[in-house]
Formats: sequence, C-alpha cells, structure tokens
Amino acid sequence: MTAIGFIGLGNMGGPMAANLVKAGFTVTGFDPVDAARAAAEAADVVLAASPAEAVVAADVVITMLPSGKHVLDVYQGDDGLLAAAPAGAFFVDCSTIAVSDAREAAALVVKAGHRALDAPVSGGVVGAAAGTLTLMVGALPDDLAAVRRILEPMAGRIVHCGEPGAGQAAKICNNLILGISMIGVSEAFVLGEKLGLTHQALYDVTSTASGQCWALTTNCPVPGPVPASPANRDYQPGFAAPLMAKDLGLAIQAAESTGTTSNLGALAAALYREFADGNGARLDFSAIVNEIRDGSAA
Ligand code: NAD
Repeated sequence: MTAIGFIGLGNMGGPMAANLVKAGFTVTGFDPVDAARAAAEAADVVLAASPAEAVVAADVVITMLPSGKHVLDVYQGDDGLLAAAPAGAFFVDCSTIAVSDAREAAALVVKAGHRALDAPVSGGVVGAAAGTLTLMVGALPDDLAAVRRILEPMAGRIVHCGEPGAGQAAKICNNLILGISMIGVSEAFVLGEKLGLTHQALYDVTSTASGQCWALTTNCPVPGPVPASPANRDYQPGFAAPLMAKDLGLAIQAAESTGTTSNLGALAAALYREFADGNGARLDFSAIVNEIRDGSAA
C-alpha cells in the first residue's frame, strides 16, 4: 500500500506531502492554487489536474483543507473523491473541522465503501516541515494499524483517541485549554506590569509555580523570558490568531451542541474572533497580550 492521493497542498499539506515523498511513497496531489502546486512539484509530488484524478489509483486519500465544508464538498458528487477512489481506500482527513462535520464525513466515507479516519494535527508549519506533528486520530483500531506507517513520516507522535470524530474532539478540547490559558497568561503579565513587576521576575516565579503552562513556558506572550517565542520576532506566527479563532469557534459549537457549560471558552472565542478580524489578522495568537494592554487604563 504505497499510493497516496493528497488534496490540499497549502502551508501544512505541502510539507506533509513532501515528507511522504521523502519516505518513498508515491504521492499524487491536487491544489487549485498555483504557488501551492509549484512548491509541491518541486518536492516531487506528482500533480493531478483535479481532486478526482489525484485519488483514482490511491490506497490512501489524505485531505488537508481549510474547513469542514471544503472536506464535505470535495468528498461528494459525481466528480468527488468518494466516487473516484478505488473501493476500500483509506480516507484520512487531517484538516481541523467541526466534530459534527468529521462524523458526517466518516459516515459518507463508510457508505461509499471506504475506511474513515480523522487525524487533525498540532505542531504548526514547523512541525509539518520537520515531520514532527502530533496526530490525534479517530479511527477503528484496525484502520489505524493499516495506515500507521503512512502517517509516521509526518508525525512525531500518533495518539489514538477513539472512533472516527474522536481526533477532532481531542484537537478542539486541547485548543480550548490553549486559547483560555493564553489569555490568562497575558492578563497576568499586563497586571504584573501595572504592579511594577519585570517580565523576567514574573516569569521566573510562574514558570516554576502553579501558573506553569505551555502558553507561558513555550509561547510566552511577552518578549524576553523565552527566546524562541513569537513575541521576540514581532509576533510573526507561530500559530496565527485567525486559526485560534477558528478552533475556538469549533470548540464553542461543540460545547453548545452537547450542552456543555463553557463560559470562559465562549469569552475566549469572542475575544479571539475580534482580534483575528482586526489587529491580529496576521499575527501569532500570543499577540493578544497587546490588545489586553491597550485596552487597560493608562
Ligand atoms: P492553507 O490555506 O495554507 O491550505 C489549505 C489549502 O487547501 C490551500 O492551498 C487551498 O488552495 C487548498 N484547497 C482549497 N480547496 C481545495 C480543493 N477543493 N482541492 C484541493 N485543495 C483545496 O491552510 P493550512 O495552514 O495548510 O491549514 C490546513 C488545515 O490544517 C486547516 O484545517 C487548519 O485549521 C489546520 N491546521 C493548521 C495549522 C497551521 O499552523 N497552519 C496547524 C494545525 C492545523
């Protein structure tokens, strides 16, 4: 099983497909954007003229697309992936999409006679290029076992989260924690400034005390304490604020549909949506610290 059809060769999909080529798989890809096609071709991905053409001989179909609507649209119809792929193909959706869309997509895949896995990722474009992404997989155990060696060149870690849809569920729960904790860390640094604390002093205490978290010790929102954090390079992403806004939107959608109380999640989603639509459109999500400072009394 070595033929892979790869749909969506953007910031994440491009380098993921390139790593599969490097691992020795034949990857046939499609993306409508010229720049994405050119980069993929340079990485020895075979370019197809349509999504259907990319999967017509595929054992495994990987999608890495912006939203659930993109995934559902490209799967369906006479010229869709489900109709074009050989019977029994493994459909692995690595996009971040709503849990409800992932479950709908999986049902369509199975109905069409194929096998369904969701495998959203974390690790960003750096992890995609390095082949060190964490893949959160929703799949039947046998299906994951069958495709594991194809996922491995893209992954530093593969976590089996449960049946189809469970990968997306884990992904949005993680990013619910991350979005809320980044705002908490940012509010603490701005409060510390007002109280006369240096960033370094506050960092030295909180990074080894009970305030410790990834938003603080890896992606610290103020320049200085963590040299590799985006705050030290004018908040160039990293993990862009619009992606955080998207993921929190998916988390809140899931919270509402399951009747889960998520007061801080709803607030974090609203704050990130406002930030992503304004000053944060091209910045790392940690730059929200500057909105909090700007919104505070002088
Ligand atoms: P991107 O916009 O760079 O890439 C998406 C690609 O899909 C684009 O190149 C677009 O042209 C292509 N596309 C759209 N419709 C298509 C179709 N019908 N057929 C083929 N290609 C099509 O986005 P990205 O940053 O690569 O993100 C992809 C997914 O990964 C998203 O769901 C995102 O939330 C998730 N994600 C991104 C990051 C990140 O740091 N960028 C991290 C984790 C997860």
